[in-house]
Amino acid sequence: MAVKIDKEKCIGCGACIDVCPVSALTMVDDKSTVDEAACVDCGACVSTCPVDAMSL
Ligand code: SF4
Ligand code: SF4
Repeated sequence: MAVKIDKEKCIGCGACIDVCPVSALTMVDDKSTVDEAACVDCGACVSTCPVDAMSL
C-alpha cells in the first residue's frame, strides 16, 4: 500500500512533503509524487493536504 495522489487536484503547495516522516514524497513537475516503497501509510499527508488530493 501507499498513499494515492490525485494529480488533477494537487496544487503543488508542498505541505505534504513537509509532514512526511519518512521523506516518501517529492515534487515532480509541480505535483507531489510518492515513493510507494518508502510510504508507511501513516496518513499525515492525507490530513494535511488542503485540497484533499491524497487518500489511503
Ligand atoms: S502516508 Fe505518511 S508515509 Fe505515506 S507519504 Fe503520506 S506522510 Fe509519508
Ligand atoms: S499537500 Fe496536497 S496540494 Fe499540497 S503538494 Fe501535497 S498533494 Fe499537492
